[in-house]
Amino acid sequence: MTIFETLESEVRSYCRSWPVMFDRASGSRMWDVNGKEYLDFFAGAGALNYGHNHPDLRAPLLEYLSSDRVVHSLDMNTIAKAEFLERFNEVILKPRELNYKVQFPGPTGTNAVESALKLVRKITGRESIISFTNAFHGMTLGSLSVTGNSMKRGGAGIPLVHATPMPYDNYLDGVVPDFIWFERLLEDSGSGLNDPAGVIVETVQGEGGINVARWEWLRGLSDLCKRHNLLLIVDDVQMGCGRTGPFFSFEAAGIVPDIVCLSKSISGYGLPMALTLLKPELDVWEPGEHNGTFRGQNPSFVTAAAALNFWTDNRLEKSVLRKGELIEQALNDVVDPIPGVSTRGRGLIRGVAFERPELAGAVCREAFERGLLLETSGPEGEVVKLMPPLVIDDDDLAEGLTIAAQSIEAVAARELAATTSGARR
Ligand code: PMP
Repeated sequence: MTIFETLESEVRSYCRSWPVMFDRASGSRMWDVNGKEYLDFFAGAGALNYGHNHPDLRAPLLEYLSSDRVVHSLDMNTIAKAEFLERFNEVILKPRELNYKVQFPGPTGTNAVESALKLVRKITGRESIISFTNAFHGMTLGSLSVTGNSMKRGGAGIPLVHATPMPYDNYLDGVVPDFIWFERLLEDSGSGLNDPAGVIVETVQGEGGINVARWEWLRGLSDLCKRHNLLLIVDDVQMGCGRTGPFFSFEAAGIVPDIVCLSKSISGYGLPMALTLLKPELDVWEPGEHNGTFRGQNPSFVTAAAALNFWTDNRLEKSVLRKGELIEQALNDVVDPIPGVSTRGRGLIRGVAFERPELAGAVCREAFERGLLLETSGPEGEVVKLMPPLVIDDDDLAEGLTIAAQSIEAVAARELAATTSGARR
């Protein structure tokens, strides 16, 4: 028995999918203690968009840590915080003409979501939030109440209230016109819908199965929110920081959310950090009304400021879109001849969906044996998720795609063999 099995809670999960002892990591690769190498197409669940230990982020971090600078400071003013805010304004907000104030909630995605939910409730005086089918927003109670997954919701142990799910894009297979149900409920005084304070949405549902909302759907949602005075929260915790191409995943839709949640890759180095961006007129917080001990993590500010150097021009965005197309092409080539398998995604978040969910898990296990880290997504774990670091080079990408293709083909071939031998019997 390892120390993990004897001492660590049964709640642990990723270590069960990849039961080795990881030791070192660099760029798109990780190594276990036996020196076996793994290509990482999991990228810290989206926290490692710039790969492991990027030297351009590590250098300022080491410099900061080795010179007795302030590490922990709640939300006191520090040079690291000022430099991050200035850089974020210069590189991200101003060029996009986005007028947001920046709140530092606690350093995780769910903290950003909780603060957004609290804020829209405080502003509107209403309790109810509209969320979407298969959404994922985090594990604390407010975030769970707007999350779809029934297993995760069950963990709450209390009723999850004040949230109403609506169909995400394509949930009804395109048969019902977009938003007809939602808008009908809003307009009908007999519908029984509590007046919502706001709407929370992901532009691509990362945990919910790589479900991609079309730009026109997102625009339709934004328009509907305006028509009905609903505040729009975009949860860009997983799809932000360039995962789909542009820094914010909603940019190409041409919408401007009222509130944006960011976390995961905002520090760039895998250090904990989160932001809640809010339109200035929404900044109705009282000082300290939403606080937390770990909001001013200066090492995170240092790497976050350095990571913004990737965004001073559009090179990274272009390369994400180009590499995303390479993946799409490669995956389509593999799955086209296989029945019951399809691909989906945008930018560098890609999925291979299996009609039989257990096959997605089998592909991930096969890939692991062959040295590639892949996880599943979707309510039944039916989608293999490919999420390499954005900065992955073409050779590593090609190598990972070859392993992914071989893994899919191996599982499909085994399935075919099992069904034909079953049929013969
Ligand atoms: N929102 C989204 C869209 C996420 O993908 C996640 C994490 N997978 C969260 C919120 C929660 O983030 P955290 O795990 O850091 O609390």
